[in-house]
Formats: sequence, structure tokens, C-alpha cells
Amino acid sequence: MLIKRRKSRVVKVGGVLIGANNPIVIQSMTKTKTADIEKTICQINDLRSVGCQIVRLAIKDFDDAKALKQIKKHAVLPLVADIHFDWRLAIAAIENGADKIRLNPGNIHREIYIRQVISALKSAKIPLRIGLNSGSVKDVPGAGLSMADKLTKAALGYLKLIEGLKFKDIVISLKANNVLDTVEAYKKIAKLCDYPLHLGVTATGAPYQGVIKSSIALGALLLDGIGDTIRVSLTDAPRQEVRAAKAILESLGQRNFGVQLISCPTCGRCQVDLVNIVKKLEALLTEEKQNLSQRHLKVALMGCVVNGPGEAKEADIGVAFGKGEGLFFSKGKPVKKISVKECIPFLLKEINKA
Ligand code: SF4
Repeated sequence: MLIKRRKSRVVKVGGVLIGANNPIVIQSMTKTKTADIEKTICQINDLRSVGCQIVRLAIKDFDDAKALKQIKKHAVLPLVADIHFDWRLAIAAIENGADKIRLNPGNIHREIYIRQVISALKSAKIPLRIGLNSGSVKDVPGAGLSMADKLTKAALGYLKLIEGLKFKDIVISLKANNVLDTVEAYKKIAKLCDYPLHLGVTATGAPYQGVIKSSIALGALLLDGIGDTIRVSLTDAPRQEVRAAKAILESLGQRNFGVQLISCPTCGRCQVDLVNIVKKLEALLTEEKQNLSQRHLKVALMGCVVNGPGEAKEADIGVAFGKGEGLFFSKGKPVKKISVKECIPFLLKEINKA
């Protein structure tokens, strides 16, 4: 099945293109105090190493804004300055080299301030994200409006003002804290403009719940062709956000990050410890992910002969396990029997060879 992407204009953040038919971009956010330059650079570079493409930083005060200049010298990703309440922080962030500014219409809404930010964005030739969250649209007027309507109405009001200033270098996000409102809001705004959309669910809860909520919401939207960039917000280390985002895009066939593992859930027919074999191989592949990112391979690990040979044949390489050993398949053909003990080093060698 081919996903037909919604038509959107293209926005450039640093060297990364968002929108139209460009690959869907993965974003995350640092969790350090931005003014702690060393820690922030370290986290950004770690995010880059796991596949993040754009990073957002909280700009809480002028020390944070000034720190952007040093961070930019050493960090390897485009930097988005996340601004709330004080428009002057946006100006300072732009002066210190931000590649994009995120404003929340819920807390910076006076036209006189927005005008000055837009003027600075124009001079620096960098884009703006209009980033709404459900928590900041409580005061949008209109009796009986749903959360999705409130988010859409607030975004359209802000857009009208900014387009009136002849600025269209814009990305939009409408994040609610639950799947249904998030999906509804993005579906509404997707029909009303052609700006690229940054997808996310906000305040998702504990990591396991967060991954599930984000996967459902982002998956539903991406399947409909909506979404040009994503962030999986998690109460967890930022690299876990990137890991989840990659898995979502890979599952939908939108990006390919290297080796994909296919494994069965196991049942009473399984005669090996498949759960641990898969965990160990996955951990080793994650460690080597950077080296293996160009290996677009499917690797199947199956617990028995019921579905095992079929799935192993479908994959580029695979093993259908029996009692204490497995039959190794390469390009659909059975090749040789391998013992459980040797299967992980053997598979790693084969993956590296393929
Ligand atoms: S492949 Fe075999 S072990 Fe795995 S779930 Fe299916 S029947 Fe069970």
C-alpha cells in the first residue's frame, strides 16, 4: 500500500527540508538546561547519533538564548528555540543563531510583539513553528467548541495575523494530550492550509503509555498522508523519543533505518528461548545501528516450523528454530542448520556481509 502524502509547501530548517515529498523528519527536544552548554551539546550530539534530525531547546531566559551561539558552534543539528511568554527571548534566540523559532499562540498573542518577532525572522531568513498545545487554548472563545476546534481556531487566528505580515515560512503543530483530539485537530487543519505539519501528542504520560498513544495518533495521521515531521514526546531520555519515532516511520514504510527484525510472539511450540535471542540481537543491532544504517534488510527469527520457514523465506535472512537449533535461510532458500549458541554471532556476521 502506498501512502499518498498531503500536498504541502516546503520549509527549510538549517539544512533540513520539511514538507512536500521530503522524507518525514524526526525531531526531539533536549532536557538539559540550555545554558548548560556542555551538557546540552552532549545531548544534541547523542540525539544526532541515534537519528534525530532537528532538535528543540527550551529558551527560558536570556542566558539560554545567549547559549545558542556557543551550542551552534559544536552541535550537529538545526536548533529550534522554544519560546513562551516573552517575545524578547525569540528576538535574542534569532540573534544568537536559532534555525527556527517555536511560538505558542496561547501565551504570546499581542500583535505588537508578534510583528517584531516576524520582522526578525524575515531578516534572519528562518522559519516559525506555530505550536499549539491543548493546555494553552483554554481561553479560546466560542461556546461548545471541541478541543480540536479550539486548537484549529487558535491556529487560524494566528496564521491570519502572520500571513497579514507577509510571512509564510511556517510549520504548524496542534498537540492535544489524547489521541482523538490530536487526530481530529490535525485532520481539520490539514484541509485548511498547505503549511507543513509537525505531528505530536503532548503530555503523553509514562513512557510505555506515551509510545502507544503517539503510535496510534501519529500512525492514524501518517496513514492518511498527514504529517511532515514528528516528535514522540516521552517522559524519558530524548534518545528514546527518537527510537520510537524511527519505529513508527519504519512500520509505515515511510523511512528505512537499516535492519528490521521480525519475530514471532512464541507459544507452547517454541523450544528455544526466542525472547532472549531477539532481545540480545536487537541490543547488538542498536549498538551497531550507525554502521548498519545502509543495510536495508529484513531479518526473521521464528520460534518453530509452523510459520517459521514461511517468514524466514520472506525475509532477506532468517532462522526457523526447532529443538536446540535452527534452520538458516538466505534470500528465501534454506542454507544450513545452526545451533542456538552460535545463532547470534552467526546472524551478525551474515547481516554485516549482506
Ligand atoms: S512461529 Fe511457532 S512458536 Fe512462533 S508463535 Fe507461531 S506457532 Fe508459536
